[in-house]
Amino acid sequence: MSQRIKIKALLESEQTGIDITVKGWVRAFRQNRFIALNDGSTNNNIQIVVDFENTDPALLKRITFGAAISVTGELIPSQGQGQKVEVIAKEIEILGDCDPEEYPLQPKRQTLEFLREKAHLRFRTNTFGAIFRVRNSLAFAVHQFFQERGFIYLHTPIITASDAEGAGETFHVTNFDLANPPKTENGEIDFSQDFFAKATNLTVSGQLEGELGAMALSDIYTFGPTFRAENSNTTRHLAEFWMIEPEVAFNDLDDNMDLAEDMLKYVIKYALDKNADDIEFLTQRLTEEEKQKPQNERSEMTLVDKLQFCLDNDFERLTYTEAIDILKESTPNKKKKFQYPVEGWGTDLQSEHERYLVEKHFKKPVILTDYPKEIKAFYMRQNEPDANGRETVRAMDILFPGIGEIVGGSQREERLDKLEQRMDEMGIPKDELWWYLDTRRFGACPHAGFGLGFERLVLFVTGMGNIRDVIPFPRYPKNAEF
Ligand code: ATP
Ligand code: MN
Repeated sequence: MSQRIKIKALLESEQTGIDITVKGWVRAFRQNRFIALNDGSTNNNIQIVVDFENTDPALLKRITFGAAISVTGELIPSQGQGQKVEVIAKEIEILGDCDPEEYPLQPKRQTLEFLREKAHLRFRTNTFGAIFRVRNSLAFAVHQFFQERGFIYLHTPIITASDAEGAGETFHVTNFDLANPPKTENGEIDFSQDFFAKATNLTVSGQLEGELGAMALSDIYTFGPTFRAENSNTTRHLAEFWMIEPEVAFNDLDDNMDLAEDMLKYVIKYALDKNADDIEFLTQRLTEEEKQKPQNERSEMTLVDKLQFCLDNDFERLTYTEAIDILKESTPNKKKKFQYPVEGWGTDLQSEHERYLVEKHFKKPVILTDYPKEIKAFYMRQNEPDANGRETVRAMDILFPGIGEIVGGSQREERLDKLEQRMDEMGIPKDELWWYLDTRRFGACPHAGFGLGFERLVLFVTGMGNIRDVIPFPRYPKNAEF
């Protein structure tokens, strides 16, 4: 038996006149003669030419949309347009029949909503094939970027007893019999009898543990699943998502911003080079989709242009305070077009504000720094109050067009007294985080890091509109199917 050759390799092959074996799923069968075959290695199909006059009609009938087949034949320069090579079939074997009457997928455009309900099959469509190949490249590029720079890939725990942000949006982990958990004298659930002898949850971030690694290994990154039980039924939130969290000893906020900007550009460029066909396909898909919108809502740039633009321009860096001034004076604010009017200093920005800054005002990615300390986490480094007595922290959020926040990070508070004071103010239990505080007791140093939501990155690079379409099996409120 001859070896299977991937369709991507065949299509790039310079050598013709040889016999090869190719396997895949039928995408189309025209005139009982031309099979379009795809195996997921590329968005492009290979054309198989069938000698139908000398082929068993019973076999021809089984070459249906979705069927898995194996073809052995000669690779020849293509007679037709649109491809370099094709295969003259000598032997066709049906590996798996696919009854077109029963098969949920149709050889036509189907809505993303429909395909989400068929997530076990949606990999077989052009759109999802392209998305998951791009996702794969981005993941690989993330590792390559950090590995080239000598970062250590650190595996932080998925089960933890800490809630990094103190936001309380966690999923509990227990092996109690839920109908009958042991209780304390006060009638509360007695976690001291649980598996870990304390209440535990799925991690919302690996940062706190990442910081421990950075305090010895200097440059670390995590890349793992993260869980948030936030009830945000949005196109930007998942209950289970992947996060990349570098943490670097001796870095300040400027170093941190440089690292994040370099990384984003590196991985986007990698995907543009590696997945040119897929991104070209996704660009056309988006352009088609935009045609359905009214003219004034259409984006001025195509997907490829947007990605290239992101590589060619420095991200705009400004403080939260400067951003508030811009927003206050903005036309939509004055004309009361914002759902949440921008009035004073101190409130969190809504995504409509972030998108105004990125898409209308600067028209490029933006990094906002130095947010009010009241709206940020306890571990961010405190600035000296400004002339107006405003208190800020060395936070940075990176905002992307069409996405809003893609990265959240900060320089960390390395001064023990300041950190403890802030924890007290915010009601964060110091005794439970004794191990975190130890890093500030013994050999503390300035350090900084950030979290990049991997799916938000994939969303940006693929030009998709809903985060549920860029992870193989999305987890969101009321859905854990597959
Ligand atoms: P948002 O305000 O959008 O909810 P956040 O401030 O809660 O984000 P962080 O806690 O800073 O986010 O997390 C770091 C990054 O993780 C974010 O910048 C974003 O890219 C990503 N992220 C956060 N929550 C989610 C989620 N529920 N689903 C997917 N990605 C997320
Ligand atoms: Mn959030």
